[in-house]
Amino acid sequence: MAADIEPTTTSEKTLKRKRIVVPRDAARKMVKPIRSIAIFGAVGALVAAVALPAYAASSSPLDATATLQQVAADDAQSLVVASEATAAPMQRSTYSATTPEEIEKKKAEEAAAAAAAAAAAAATASASSPIDVSNYAMTAAGSGEVRYPLPQGSYIQGRTVGSGHQGADMLAPARTPIYAATSGVVRVSSESYSGYGVGVAIDGVVGGQSVSTVYGHMTYGSRQVQAGQHVEAGQLIGLVGSTGRSTANHLHFEVHIGGGLYEPYAWLAANAG
Ligand SMILES: [Zn+2]
Repeated sequence: MAADIEPTTTSEKTLKRKRIVVPRDAARKMVKPIRSIAIFGAVGALVAAVALPAYAASSSPLDATATLQQVAADDAQSLVVASEATAAPMQRSTYSATTPEEIEKKKAEEAAAAAAAAAAAAATASASSPIDVSNYAMTAAGSGEVRYPLPQGSYIQGRTVGSGHQGADMLAPARTPIYAATSGVVRVSSESYSGYGVGVAIDGVVGGQSVSTVYGHMTYGSRQVQAGQHVEAGQLIGLVGSTGRSTANHLHFEVHIGGGLYEPYAWLAANAG
């Protein structure tokens, strides 16, 4: 009998055939209220599983499996009782997807939910930004090989290199656009770049010298570049924030040339344009 109630068989045919074969036992079993109620639920679930194999498999594979085994352990007569019971109106309220339209709607909802989950996972894994930056200039003003990482006039100079501090703290409002100071390859792009918080590091070459720049404390979800990506000088890479070891909105900006630490404000004043 077990083969007859595999989900791959047509439930209608299976149940109708059984009804013809064993009507007497079925009738006898109907007078056992407790057993009938249990079977009612079990086979109702089976019918739902057969009618909605994808839905049953994705939502509760264990329940579907248990139901099949449970019913398989029963005799054919039990199925006859239940098949008549499934015609009762109550079944329609127990299982929400009972018409082809409703089944399609349910599948569409599940597909949409899966797509949303996949998109969320992709956003977390990549540097793609959930923050809408369409209102920002995607490239900084100027045309030089070196650009100011923040728009001129948008920031005030804070602390710079010294006493263990390796960069310049450029104080600016949250979500002020941050631009790549040089072209190059993104070495780091992370929502959790140690004390930098949301940070980016770019390895470039300026005037034949290797120049690495670091951008720290960006707003979560604002990074516009991924590690390994090539960027142009002046390309939008993120937005000012206060993530990581920071107590106020600012860009922590570092410049390393040929492996040595440079004072960023002086370097920008001498090179950016
Ligand atoms: Zn700093």
